[in-house]
This record gives sequence, structure tokens and C-alpha cells, in this order.
Amino acid sequence: MDELPTWPCVGCGHDTRFEQPPCADGHTDDGGDCPEWLCVDCGTAIVNGQVSVRERQRAA
Ligand SMILES: [Zn+2]
Ligand SMILES: [Zn+2]
Repeated sequence: MDELPTWPCVGCGHDTRFEQPPCADGHTDDGGDCPEWLCVDCGTAIVNGQVSVRERQRAA
């Protein structure tokens, strides 16, 4: 049974469910929780409860 959290999604404009993607940043390496969540409908990323505008992030 899925128990995905539901938050307001700016991409969808209403509450949607969010799922955690596989963590690629090492957040879970030491047993911690990854702060990243993705809207299951539109893929908008939320980190620590805030929208992350991935498009504006540049890889170093
Ligand atoms: Zn969405
Ligand atoms: Zn992570």
C-alpha cells in the first residue's frame, strides 16, 4: 500500500502525491533521509519542503 505524502504542487496547481527518487547525492549513505521529493504527476522537485528549480541549477 502506497503511503506517499501529499503536498501542494506548483506545477500541478493542486495537492498531489510525492515520491522519493533514488538518491544520487549521497544523502542516504550514512543512513539519513534524502530531502528530495518528486511530484508523481509532473515531476516537480521539492527539497526540504520547498520547490527546487532544477532548471536554474548549473552543474559545477
Ligand atoms: Zn505536480
Ligand atoms: Zn538525496
